[in-house]
Amino acid sequence: MEVLTRKGSLGFLEEEQDLVAYFPGTFDIKTLVRELDVLKTVLKIGGIDEELRFSSTLVPDQDWNESWKKGFTPLDVGKSFTILPPWEEQRSGRINLIIDPGMAFGTGHHETTRSCLVMMEKYEGRTAKDSFLDLGTGTGLLAIAAAKLGYRRIVAVDTDPLATEASRMNIGLNGVTNIEVRDGSMDAVPEKYDCIAANIISGVLIMLADQIAEHLNESGLAILSGILAEQAEEVVTAVEQAGLKLKETYPDDKWVSLVFMK
Ligand code: SAH
Repeated sequence: MEVLTRKGSLGFLEEEQDLVAYFPGTFDIKTLVRELDVLKTVLKIGGIDEELRFSSTLVPDQDWNESWKKGFTPLDVGKSFTILPPWEEQRSGRINLIIDPGMAFGTGHHETTRSCLVMMEKYEGRTAKDSFLDLGTGTGLLAIAAAKLGYRRIVAVDTDPLATEASRMNIGLNGVTNIEVRDGSMDAVPEKYDCIAANIISGVLIMLADQIAEHLNESGLAILSGILAEQAEEVVTAVEQAGLKLKETYPDDKWVSLVFMK
């Protein structure tokens, strides 16, 4: 998304496994498609053979704003969360997570985000709630959910400056004051936490496994997501080697979240 934003994309919509990027009508889409083709070849040569598909269509100008907004209706997640854009009315009796879907990943329209929220809700009573780390915060959604679940001190980090900017804006929209946003990754977090949530990809989670384990308090919890089911075993091995114990794999689907305890 960072690359597409730099290229001039005006906004994104996440649909299941697809990412829809909107560009102005004057945009040179043919050149972008050629560049994406090159990227696909480079990834293949590099041994990453994830299927990368793309297509483009022209959306009539007059309803662009409205049709983009239509994709973002309130979304109930787990027992108590509702994710909604700022132009929708908050739901009474729910934990409302207000997310402006403009710039970063994490609007709840991807199942990895939703399963993180479900696991956060399920395990919140099993750890102390003094501190929470949202590693790879994107829109800030998980950090905001942690604040509303009652964690007292929350840190959100991301290596993408567009994400930290978006998360600061979303934190403001939610009126929560106990989240500190930092640019970077585990290098930006010297402290230990009661809960660390990271919805990144398997390769990054494996790379960060030791640091995640080191930065958990005794009986702390790690919720790791963004993991393709076939890569789960590799992640479990790395995280167990780092000293954590697997408590749950959720759900048993194409993507899984793994819950570990120290
Ligand atoms: N937490 C959100 C967003 C997940 S997308 C949610 O659950 O929906 C993953 C985010 O991790 C992206 O914003 C990306 O920029 C960030 N990221 C990728 N590698 C990272 C790393 N090594 N350290 C910190 N953040 C990283």
